[in-house]
Amino acid sequence: MNSKIWLSSPHMGGKEQQYVNEAFAENWIAPLGPNVDGFEMDLAAYTGSGHAAALSSGTAALHLSLVMLGVQAGDEVICQSFTFSASANPIAYQGAVPVFVDSESETWNMCPETLKRAIDDRLAKGKKPKAIIPVHLYGMPAQMERISAIAAEYGIPVIEDAAEALGSSINGRAAGTFGKLGVLSFNGNKIITTSGGGALISTDEALIKRARFLATQARDAAPHYQHSNIGYNYRMSNICAGIGRGQMQVLDQHIANRRRNFDFYKGVFSEVDAISFVDEMKGYRSNRWLTTILIDPKKSNNKTREHVRMALEADNIESRPLWKPMHLQPIFADAPYYGDGTSERLFELGLCLPSGSNLREDDLNRIASIVTSALR
Ligand SMILES: *Cc1c(COP(=O)(O)O)cnc(C)c1O
Repeated sequence: MNSKIWLSSPHMGGKEQQYVNEAFAENWIAPLGPNVDGFEMDLAAYTGSGHAAALSSGTAALHLSLVMLGVQAGDEVICQSFTFSASANPIAYQGAVPVFVDSESETWNMCPETLKRAIDDRLAKGKKPKAIIPVHLYGMPAQMERISAIAAEYGIPVIEDAAEALGSSINGRAAGTFGKLGVLSFNGNKIITTSGGGALISTDEALIKRARFLATQARDAAPHYQHSNIGYNYRMSNICAGIGRGQMQVLDQHIANRRRNFDFYKGVFSEVDAISFVDEMKGYRSNRWLTTILIDPKKSNNKTREHVRMALEADNIESRPLWKPMHLQPIFADAPYYGDGTSERLFELGLCLPSGSNLREDDLNRIASIVTSALR
């Protein structure tokens, strides 16, 4: 059997262990400590948000965002349909209703026109959405200038799901810093990992302080345990944050490697008619967390993305269909949806190729030759 190639595997830089060792040496084995503080400062500086709260997961960061924006049972929250379920699940945690909005074909993210149509229709039906959750899928920034303008026009706060987009930007401004709150994830397959973890970023210091308060069981200032709010246990551990501090030192290298993967695939498949890519709009920079391709069966003798996926699997190479849109998921079958089929088409035709920052040249060549021959 050929050696396994993963879609996106953890890639340590070298300093992670040192920060973890320091935590052991100083007995900071807790969901607070110098690594948590240091990691938060790194994230705030890197993104330019100014403020960050390190949390147990990206999902927790999304949940806390909704809590802080006052989303309650029966409220409606607009969410990009083309995403991972973690973008939408926290809406359900609050007993609120997700309203799914389709993607446009330039960035594959929330379509501004459809967003506006959805808001107008919800208002006509008597309910104003409490928040808007666009996603920077696969690292490609959503059209945040247009989405922000619509959100401002209606006075609806934006929570940016930048879980896949640390290091992505629009005209130099980091993904995650356009909305009221930005969500990051450091799960095992993300561009940097803390084994598991997430963060909230914001230019609003009060919101970040509030997030830290709610994430540590909402303890009031008192010598005994006193509570005026429902709290959560959502803080990041000082051990995990140590891994994060080490990973921040290699983040730019990871982005360079993942962009190199994209350039390699784009170059090697330039002669393959059936394969297309999503390019960056002017001023947009994607971290290219995952390289994604569309495979048009009409140009490949009816070979589909499943042919390619199975050919890769037979060679011990992991690839994956694009996210199945939320409005097609059984659990969200009853949720309102606004769209024109764009994300359904992407799901049908799309495949994520192995994209780790630790892929070697011979790995990339092996992947490319299998994809090419599967489509012949
Ligand atoms: C990974 C991810 C999340 C959730 O992050 P976790 O840290 O795994 O909880 C949310 N949204 C998107 C788009 C993601 O890819």
